[in-house]
Amino acid sequence: MYSIGVDLGGTKILTGVLDEQGTLQHTLELPTMAADGPDAVIRRMRDTIDRMLDRVGRANVIGIGIGAPGPLNPHTGMVLGPPNLPGWDQIPLRDELHEVYGLPVYLENDANAAAVAEHRFGAGQGSLQMVYITVSTGIGGGVVIDGQVRQGAAGGFAEIGHMIVDPDGARCNCGNRGCLEAVASGTAIARMASEAFGRALTAEQVAELAMRGDNKAQQVLDTAFYYLGIGLVNIVNLYDPDLIVIGGGVARIGQPLFAALLQALGSNYFRRSYGMDVPIVPAQLGAKAGVIGAAALPWLAREQA
Ligand SMILES: [Zn+2]
Repeated sequence: MYSIGVDLGGTKILTGVLDEQGTLQHTLELPTMAADGPDAVIRRMRDTIDRMLDRVGRANVIGIGIGAPGPLNPHTGMVLGPPNLPGWDQIPLRDELHEVYGLPVYLENDANAAAVAEHRFGAGQGSLQMVYITVSTGIGGGVVIDGQVRQGAAGGFAEIGHMIVDPDGARCNCGNRGCLEAVASGTAIARMASEAFGRALTAEQVAELAMRGDNKAQQVLDTAFYYLGIGLVNIVNLYDPDLIVIGGGVARIGQPLFAALLQALGSNYFRRSYGMDVPIVPAQLGAKAGVIGAAALPWLAREQA
């Protein structure tokens, strides 16, 4: 038997078939073309789902999981108006797809889906209290406790990227000031570097410059790492995890990032009396985590039934 997962992003739709062992098969990627609005995007999503159903046979598919950008409500299956999907205000995506296919359909926040994947098949296997953080153009998070990804009352659990770490800091896309995402994401690194260098630089270029010993680039990274460290200390004090998994493009900076974060956690005075260090490890599934986690949702639901 198989499940189908769809990772719906602002720039691309990645759809795949997953078997019960977590092996991803027959992936297919299409551009989202988000500017065309929800109807056109859902049509393209359905194209990819149809192709997967043709390949493995509809009778062999137990369900469909969708990972989509927040805000969304996994309880009602509604997409609530993500900034990178224009026009998606109150779209009942889960019910629309269920009506078309007659299969169980599950909707989950994309970072939560990636957290599910890392917990089940990647760096978080065996963890009882795992926090997953993705640091890329934005910052997202998911918390998996006793094998279940937490969703919260409205579906907004562990929106780590919108934890305020500097009340006077840069304005976030969400409207608040000094969210972690606004001061420590890849986008924030690029913005701070452009200000420091007077020309446009990507986060990747900043990391390269820093590696070659450029002081200005290093300062930009240090600022981002400083805020990530504050975020991580707050996360540890709130969720008391046994493992923190970090994914996303910025995590590819690797050792310098992880060293800075370990140092920040080490200087968390409050935790000292607990005498237990929290390991921080890189995610293992890379850019496929979202589609794998989305496709894992029908399997999880089946186990819990
Ligand atoms: Zn925010």
